[in-house]
Amino acid sequence: MTADVLIIGGGIIGIATALELTKAGVKVSVVERGICGQGASWAAAGMLAPQAEQLTGDLLTLGIKSRDFYPQWIKEIQAITGQSCGYWCCGILAPLFNGEVTPSEYYRDRSQLLQRQPELGEKVTGGMWYAADGQVDNRLLMQNLLLAARLKGVEIQEGVNVVGFNSSNGKVASVQTAQGELVAGHYLLAAGAWSRELLPVPVQPRKGQMLSFFDPHRRLRQVIYAPGAYIVPRQDGTIVLGATVEDVGFLPGITAGGINSLLSNAIAVLPFLADLQITETWWGFRPHAPAEIPLLGATKYENLTIGTGHYRNGILWAPLSAHLLSRWILGQLDDPLVQEFLPLLQGKV
Ligand SMILES: Cc1cc2nc3c(=O)[nH]c(=O)nc-3n(C[C@H](O)[C@H](O)[C@H](O)COP(=O)(O)OP(=O)(O)OC[C@H]3O[C@@H](n4cnc5c(N)ncnc54)[C@H](O)[C@@H]3O)c2cc1C
Repeated sequence: MTADVLIIGGGIIGIATALELTKAGVKVSVVERGICGQGASWAAAGMLAPQAEQLTGDLLTLGIKSRDFYPQWIKEIQAITGQSCGYWCCGILAPLFNGEVTPSEYYRDRSQLLQRQPELGEKVTGGMWYAADGQVDNRLLMQNLLLAARLKGVEIQEGVNVVGFNSSNGKVASVQTAQGELVAGHYLLAAGAWSRELLPVPVQPRKGQMLSFFDPHRRLRQVIYAPGAYIVPRQDGTIVLGATVEDVGFLPGITAGGINSLLSNAIAVLPFLADLQITETWWGFRPHAPAEIPLLGATKYENLTIGTGHYRNGILWAPLSAHLLSRWILGQLDDPLVQEFLPLLQGKV
């Protein structure tokens, strides 16, 4: 079977774009060298935090637009699968310490702050409150996206490693895999931090270590975005703590220093974490691009589109990226959002 569009990489960007393309009746195949959804999209914390992350300029615009896409996007996915994606617009509290003041400070009064989040550390004296930021359980979301894509007819092949492109006359003729060649009308490179293995794009891995606890009392009511640690409660009582940002290539593993810094920063804000059992530790590789701007759209090959470089915000940007990438692939340049982000999409890599 020859696909209209062949997507390389089964992370959130590849699968979300595949699902979006099926709405236009396009026959889509995805090839993934491991298991879909086990890259950065599995390792993430799932914060939807354009404001708490203090994004600026185009990145803030992208982030807020994509955050606005979320409720409807989740509704559509859940309508296909009948299962929850763990989307929770719980708000994000960014604590301030020892009388620190900022123009956008929301809570000045500690007793008022404690009504929002009891049991905060003594040095927390105020806080910023981002009511529209929130989170999604990225692992549940990936499971749902994969199921939805399969139910909508996307052909997903796991364990297929793409090793290169065969090209002629400025077009990709086929992709080379360990199992042979695959041919499609159009190709999307969505291989996250590994994209540079296939195309000379300026994408580098940035490792992040994370860990989780379980709080049977469910004391955390919203995301806490503290200096050097963010603390994300899931609705089932799991608390996710992240994340280091390390420029160490693809070096795997958890380090004592990494976990130590996350724990000490987090316990300073929420002392009760010290009594909880650690349930899991893990790490992943964010796809970092220059100026942290994702690489979306044109490449030197006419029929190859790129969708990578989502760095710290790929879960947040996924619905908007899938919208932009699918319209770009379909040549729907009159789409209002494509028009708005045209310089980004046309910036050939
Ligand atoms: C620790 C950590 C915390 C994060 N927290 C957040 C957060 O709170 N909020 C947020 O919005 N974002 C967060 N992110 C960022 C987000 O996870 C990423 O930006 C996003 O998941 C990138 O998605 P992707 O599909 O591009 O990449 P991935 O999910 O990495 O998927 C790429 C896939 O391509 C496959 N692949 C690679 N090469 C090949 C090949 N040659 N052939 C076939 N398949 C190939 C890989 O196996 C992989 O499955 C975090 C990331 C990390 C690591």
